[in-house]
Amino acid sequence: MARSRLARLRDGLRSKGLDALLVSSLPNIRFLTRFSGSNALLVVRRDRAVFLTDTRYALQSREEVRRLRRIVTQGSLVEAAASHDLLRQCPRVGFEAHHVTFAQYRMLRRLFPRVEFRSTADLVEEVALTKDRDEIAQIERAVKITDRVFSDLLPLLRPGVTEIDISAHITYLHRRYGADRDGFEPIVAGGERGALPHARATTRRFRKGEFVTLDFGCSVGGYHSDLTRTVALGRPSSELRRAYAIVLEAQTGAIAAARAGMAACDLDAVARTSITRAGLGKLFTHSLGHGLGLRLHERPRVSMVNREPLRAGSVITIEPGVYAPGKFGVRIEDVVLLTPAGSRQLSHAPKELIIL
Ligand code: ZN
Ligand code: ZN
Repeated sequence: MARSRLARLRDGLRSKGLDALLVSSLPNIRFLTRFSGSNALLVVRRDRAVFLTDTRYALQSREEVRRLRRIVTQGSLVEAAASHDLLRQCPRVGFEAHHVTFAQYRMLRRLFPRVEFRSTADLVEEVALTKDRDEIAQIERAVKITDRVFSDLLPLLRPGVTEIDISAHITYLHRRYGADRDGFEPIVAGGERGALPHARATTRRFRKGEFVTLDFGCSVGGYHSDLTRTVALGRPSSELRRAYAIVLEAQTGAIAAARAGMAACDLDAVARTSITRAGLGKLFTHSLGHGLGLRLHERPRVSMVNREPLRAGSVITIEPGVYAPGKFGVRIEDVVLLTPAGSRQLSHAPKELIIL
């Protein structure tokens, strides 16, 4: 597994004219080596790769990082890379510009004065765009847990309960059903707070007749799930029901249209056009979705401006929403795997309007 991902990364190095790449982003290191700890550096040369970590992870890295040379050190990983001369005969070396601080860059220049360092972006992310079978299975595990948590929450949602109560249940249930952790802080937003797409749960109590938006996900083996559902507590007004129907139609329309090969912006447009025709276009204030994997938000962005073609094997979310400030919000989000023929929806929580 690790070898084929590394082999694909080396194709990228060759095309950029690089002799080596310093991988310092932890999700990227996990993708390439399976290492799940919090401190590591991976030196990927064209002829070999060397993994470095500190002594806290001596045992863990022996278990997780197979078939690669490992260096375990007490001090700085970059200094260890220098003292082991890991960039010998590598005149041009890339670093991950989005993950290296200026101080770290200066240290690289000082420790490797003969190397020409080149800033790179997304070399590993490019390889990670298409998920292999193992990765899809991990995402499916995470999605399944989150679906199950959603059905467990329904009996708990009633007027008088606070957002924080529900948020705490989500965290507990994720762990109980086998997730490593929440993938992000759960969003639980009742009534007018639903108009904040990223509302943090508060002590506000739910009221009869309002919508509650729940957006939550977990991580399993580092891979994420991400689900949003909006439910009604008691019979909602016709305005709320209409908004829900508009978002649901846009969301299911986009899932039906999604397939590899189409431009990301064209998929965004499917949902946006549908909501705009229904008169609520101004209330749909964010992108349609995002890639999902070892990161909660990764490429491809499914936005109005991203013209890159979607790829078979990418896993994305489709999550249109409308937000009426001071009044309510509706969002519905599912995770789908893109295939050449279309897409396969991985999350299965019901999405016809649930009235509790
Ligand atoms: Zn979400
Ligand atoms: Zn999302």
